[in-house]
Amino acid sequence: MKLTFLGGVSKVGPLSMVMEYKNTTLIFDHGMLPADPPEYPMRPPLVDLAFLTHSHLDHCGMIPSLVRMCDVNVLATHPTLEVTELLLYDSLKIANIEGYPQYYDKSDIKRTKAAFDLMGFNSKRDIGGMEIEVHSAGHIPGSMMTELRGEETVVFTGDMNTGNSRLLWGAHPVKCDTLILEATYGGEEHKDREESEKEFLDDIDDVLAKGGQAIVPAFAVGRTQEVLMVLNDRDYDVWFDGMGRTVNQIYLNHQGFLRKGKALKKAVGNANPVHSNKSRKRAKEAEVVVTTSGMVEGGPVLEYIMNKRRDPNSAIFLTGYQVEGTNGDRLLNTGMVHDRGATVPVECCVKKYDFSAHGGHSELIDFAHGCEPEKIVLMHGDKRELVAEDLDEYDVRLPVEGETIEV
Ligand SMILES: [Zn+2]
Ligand SMILES: [Zn+2]
Repeated sequence: MKLTFLGGVSKVGPLSMVMEYKNTTLIFDHGMLPADPPEYPMRPPLVDLAFLTHSHLDHCGMIPSLVRMCDVNVLATHPTLEVTELLLYDSLKIANIEGYPQYYDKSDIKRTKAAFDLMGFNSKRDIGGMEIEVHSAGHIPGSMMTELRGEETVVFTGDMNTGNSRLLWGAHPVKCDTLILEATYGGEEHKDREESEKEFLDDIDDVLAKGGQAIVPAFAVGRTQEVLMVLNDRDYDVWFDGMGRTVNQIYLNHQGFLRKGKALKKAVGNANPVHSNKSRKRAKEAEVVVTTSGMVEGGPVLEYIMNKRRDPNSAIFLTGYQVEGTNGDRLLNTGMVHDRGATVPVECCVKKYDFSAHGGHSELIDFAHGCEPEKIVLMHGDKRELVAEDLDEYDVRLPVEGETIEV
């Protein structure tokens, strides 16, 4: 079996992996990194079938261009299909506004939607002389790990999390000969999840006691829902705004992919959606606002921040990783924010919490041992070497972009 990564292997970039087995060529993910400017994977060869692990842009962002080029079917779960469609239209809109190159158009997104071939967890398929089974990856709703059983068994994890979150149960190891494992958090440990949640809620209590507002920027896909569920532990006046609203509804339509659909339904039901200028006005004076974008780059979040930026009693509580150069990163490090060409100071308290949807270093190591592989291919992390050091009893490979390895 030959593996070639077209992107996202030596760092958290646009992931794409080609697998050649006997006479079949498969591709796993074909993403786009939404940076400024965006990053794309290398051009793919003609492939027979695509697998899409989940609906984050660094995995799904270039699928329409792949479908246009190869006319392939895309195996994925139902929530992945619906959220991917939403993100593709949004990213086309952003590309238009920002003048980024466009590798597909609306008709390609329609074609992509029709090319999806849906699979549920633990269902099986025969493809290219292999039996395929998909398992939950515990990362975001619908995220899947793929197990391929041919002469040998191979597992491709995609992004994954072994820890339990409010939204999902953690992923379980799958026995295999070759494990292709993500390593986003190589060398980094997460804080205990319950402690992070308690700290977050206690800090909100303090802000409200001072009469301030808590503005919570959150990614639309997965994080908004997780945060709403955490907030539902206490009796706050919560409003939510931005694309997370649509994603909430998609996940509520697919509750079988959640750890506890009823808990999400309750959390969403106890919060107030912003659907008009009038309701946004009310949300601006609410106790807690959860809104996109998670890195304070687009979406309604800046409007909320500009509204409270001179209020030292209010706070901005970031809930995800902040890429260098984004407003979220700028806020954390300098207390300033870019808005319509100007850089302005923000007097609110700014803090970041760890609600990661990826396994930390120890979880990655434990997961790898649990799979009992012979060979391990590490991908999607810029500190893969640190994970490799702790797995030196296995045949560990660290391919780079464009390199073909035999496993
Ligand atoms: Zn992801
Ligand atoms: Zn990723």
